[in-house]
Amino acid sequence: YAAKATGEPYQSWSPTIDESAGEQARLGAEIRTALDSGQFRVVYQPIVAVPEGRVAAAEALVRWDHPERGPVSPAYFIPVAERNGLIVELGAWVLRTACEQMARWRRDLGARAPDRISVNVSARQLARPGFPHTVAEALASAGLPPECLAVEVTETAVFEGGRAVAALHELRALGVRIALDDFGTGHSSLRLLQTVPVDILKVDKSFVDDITGAGEHRVIAEALIHVSAGLGLTAVAEGVETAEQAEVLYRLGYRLLQGYHFGRPVPADEFRVAGPAVIHA
Ligand code: C2E
Ligand code: MG
Ligand code: MG
Ligand code: MG
Repeated sequence: YAAKATGEPYQSWSPTIDESAGEQARLGAEIRTALDSGQFRVVYQPIVAVPEGRVAAAEALVRWDHPERGPVSPAYFIPVAERNGLIVELGAWVLRTACEQMARWRRDLGARAPDRISVNVSARQLARPGFPHTVAEALASAGLPPECLAVEVTETAVFEGGRAVAALHELRALGVRIALDDFGTGHSSLRLLQTVPVDILKVDKSFVDDITGAGEHRVIAEALIHVSAGLGLTAVAEGVETAEQAEVLYRLGYRLLQGYHFGRPVPADEFRVAGPAVIHA
């Protein structure tokens, strides 16, 4: 194995005690300012094909460099942006930025470019009637083929069915890939895999964490690779931090791995597509 330890030196800010309504409102207003003054940026984390080590895809992840608070974790501000509705504008910006970057990689790297860029989409974005149109526009203005984009949604965002699932069908019809993110942690139901159009199953980090032990997480990770294969889905294991985890996942049948072991999220100019083989057969 060859591990990469580059990128993301900082610890992002997240709340400890002050989650009051006042703090929520303040942060919400600051997101508005941040959008207007360009405080957000997008970083990219490789999704690596094993054993050869090719970077098959990249996941776009938003970052907020707050002028006073410092880096704020998306796990904290995305839910706030969901509640005050600004996720729609922020999400559309991330989508455009990621599509433009993917188009740039294709121009600059040709065959060495990743096959796909993956963009996280929140429940509220997905449920907006105009969302498929927003995606189509982002693709068209970047000149990116729809097959080069995947949207990552959680089980919870699609569990209720309705508009969110209709939107996924429209995206699928465009040619965009659908990934179920953090699979196994939300309103998990295997039926979801039949009722929702899905191409990619992202098996949550929690099942990878103690996969080298004898516990039940390994059993679940093993079951999920069989389910994926049986349903013709592409499985991705998230949060792979060690060579041992990568090795076990590879032996279970996983061929796409993502995590700090392979690369942290980094700005586009630090993103590396070439690398040594990561699993020595
Ligand atoms: P996610 O989509 O499941 O993204 C994976 C998260 O795990 C990222 O955290 C990534 O930096 C982190 N990660 C990747 N590999 C490892 C690893 O090996 N170990 C550990 N400990 N962590 C790893 P991040 O960037 O802080 O994002 C957190 C969540 O915030 C994301 O989870 C996603 O749900 C949400 N998010 C991030 N960017 C966006 C966005 O542009 N739009 C929306 N709607 N949500 C976003
Ligand atoms: Mg994701
Ligand atoms: Mg995830
Ligand atoms: Mg996750």
